[in-house]
Amino acid sequence: MAAVLRCMECGAEYSLGEIRYRCRCGGLLDVAHDLGSLRVSRELFEEREAGQGPEPWRRSGVWRFRELVLPVESQLIVSRPEGNTPLYRSAALARWVGLEDFSVKHEGENPTGSFKDRGMTVGITWAKALGAKAVACASTGNTAASMAAYAAMAGLKAIVFVPQGKVALGKIAQALAYGALTLEVEGDFDAAMSLVQESCRELGIYLLNSVNPFRIEGQKTIVFELIQDLGWDPPDWIVFPAGNLGNTAAFGKALWELRELGLIPRMPRLAAVQAAGANPLYRSYARGFAPLEPVRAETVATAIRIGNPVSFPRAVRSLRWTEGVVVEVTDQEIMDAKAVVDAAGIGCEPASAAAVAGARKLVSQGVIKRSERVVAVLTGNLLKDPEATVSYHAGKLQGIEPRFANRPRRIAPSLEAVAEALEEGRR
Ligand SMILES: *Cc1c(COP(=O)(O)O)cnc(C)c1O
Ligand SMILES: [Zn+2]
Repeated sequence: MAAVLRCMECGAEYSLGEIRYRCRCGGLLDVAHDLGSLRVSRELFEEREAGQGPEPWRRSGVWRFRELVLPVESQLIVSRPEGNTPLYRSAALARWVGLEDFSVKHEGENPTGSFKDRGMTVGITWAKALGAKAVACASTGNTAASMAAYAAMAGLKAIVFVPQGKVALGKIAQALAYGALTLEVEGDFDAAMSLVQESCRELGIYLLNSVNPFRIEGQKTIVFELIQDLGWDPPDWIVFPAGNLGNTAAFGKALWELRELGLIPRMPRLAAVQAAGANPLYRSYARGFAPLEPVRAETVATAIRIGNPVSFPRAVRSLRWTEGVVVEVTDQEIMDAKAVVDAAGIGCEPASAAAVAGARKLVSQGVIKRSERVVAVLTGNLLKDPEATVSYHAGKLQGIEPRFANRPRRIAPSLEAVAEALEEGRR
């Protein structure tokens, strides 16, 4: 049996080639692979990691797992390549979090600086295969940057819908530079999200938000790759920031498939971290997965500033499959964690630091045991949000105490002034 689109609510099936993002019943769609008929093994993925051959997809950390991602002809693949991101360890960071075995998978080291490239290589490949001429997304910034870049490489027109004034500088710069038609919607992300869905439906544009099941398939490879990085010995926990809940959806599906295929003996537990000011999943979780109640979102971590997450039902499914937990962290905790990640020389954007802040909180609550093996996913690059970083260190970030500030010092152009500054730095 070939892969199909299957509704997660009613089980209705559609062919992969049909352009639709939801079931007739309104349910979200999954790409359902016929796992029993796939010929995949750890050895196959190990062999491919060597990355021989001229085509970029052969060096991609997404297409290495292509049987579990998308059945498509090799010539159609649009790849940078993406993935193959580093797994960093820092003794100082582990100590701060309170764990012996803590590492971070840095998805901010993808081609456009966020994990969105993993879903986008699949989404753009499929858009081309379907014959689309134009693609669109609503975005807090990183999806826009990624889609704009991949669309430009594939020769597709890109239209991005962003919340006016709420996109980090590096991300808006990328969308403009890569040539996307950039629509600054007067409203928040959730307003941009409903407008893009309506526009795609009415204007015949292919929608590349994470409601699109093909993007979820690409994002699964974060988990495939991190387990491969660990020699196929899964960690106890995977901790990550949760906004529109695409990753929460993708990570659960990835783990479920790996276990079904017998590629891992047990599933790690997922820990989804939300900003306290944008916490609809946390609120639902705290009440035994009560129905989603959208919130008006506000947080310094603009990438997860989302009040009405589109993948909510898929996320709940993932958390149930993996005995997952949800935790919320304040903006102060996020910026403290970011300063520690940054000072370790690793660096990330605020939303990514939420994962580290969440890990630390779960350790302090005793939910994660100090002896457990934990991987946090850093979703975006330090350079995405220079304003947040510089304002923090200058002590100018509203409502945030800069506990780890590294203030620039203005000096006169003299050796004495340098000596004085060094002396001060020593104190
Ligand atoms: C998109 C994004 C998120 C949120 O991921 P979801 O899959 O929407 O939950 C978190 N961090 C960064 C840096 C992002 O770009
Ligand atoms: Zn359905």
